[in-house]
Amino acid sequence: MTMRFGEIIFRRTVFVTLASLMTVACAATTVNAAGAAKSADAIRVTMLGTGTPYPSAERFEAAILVEAGGKRLLFDCGRGAVIRLSQAGVKASEIDAVFLTHLHSDHVVGLPDLWLTGWFLGRPDALELFGPSGTKSMATHLAEAFAGDIAAREAAPENLPSAGVEITAKDIEEGIAYDEGGVRVTAFLVDHGNVKPAFGYRVDYGGHAVVISGDTNFSENLIHFARGADCVMHAAWSVGATNPTPPAQRTIASAEDAGRVFAAVRPKLAVVYHYEDAAGIERAVRTEYAGPLVVAKDLLVIDVGKEVTWHARTESGGSATHAK
Ligand SMILES: [Zn+2]
Repeated sequence: MTMRFGEIIFRRTVFVTLASLMTVACAATTVNAAGAAKSADAIRVTMLGTGTPYPSAERFEAAILVEAGGKRLLFDCGRGAVIRLSQAGVKASEIDAVFLTHLHSDHVVGLPDLWLTGWFLGRPDALELFGPSGTKSMATHLAEAFAGDIAAREAAPENLPSAGVEITAKDIEEGIAYDEGGVRVTAFLVDHGNVKPAFGYRVDYGGHAVVISGDTNFSENLIHFARGADCVMHAAWSVGATNPTPPAQRTIASAEDAGRVFAAVRPKLAVVYHYEDAAGIERAVRTEYAGPLVVAKDLLVIDVGKEVTWHARTESGGSATHAK
């Protein structure tokens, strides 16, 4: 394998292996997470949840934090997102906007927690929420479902501000969904079978861009919108996992298909997430793609600036950084 990909690819593969299996005692340079390469024009991505609906204490459901230009944007809000945010040093109250790729429960079930805990922790005004058709309706019904909690906390002795428990929800279509402070979020349609519409997102800031696939099969539209992106994060079906659905009827890309997307876009860093079982994923992606690749675990941090670096947060806040 080493000889087949050549020395550069071998080195990248080492990085991949380190990032995939990273422990605190990694041989690479150890730095404090806060001291990792960050510049004014950088985008920081934190993979909060890299798992699937199958319960796992190690890898939570889909949620990705993107920080750029002083904004903290959350893409999907699956189970445990608030816990992972806290581990990443971000309060639920500090999220500026939430973007949903689609309304499958493993992408939204953490939303009541983010919304209400964010209010409890001091968000003074409405939570901004963007997503496909049905998002606004869901927000309305969340307010009904939690009316008891809301009424109790608005009253003495807590007296939480009513404005902070509002949700400004918007059903969006393909196109620019958000453009504030130089941070632009573009939604694009992907193919998630019978879940329509389902979006992927592109975030542009300071001449850099990151792309989140959401749940999708191989998508030419994703490749179109991802053109020139520094980092592409793509969902992939687990190679080794049991799946009773025939491949032709599946609605999430195989790892090989994710590799085909990476090969077409050629980002500075390709990231696989939303998989149940890591076994064989890297090998499957490598059948189609030879560039920089990380099979993400929860709390993987990616800094996108002049160069792309990534490191795993650890319980102690330390990290090991790898440059592209
Ligand atoms: Zn889905």
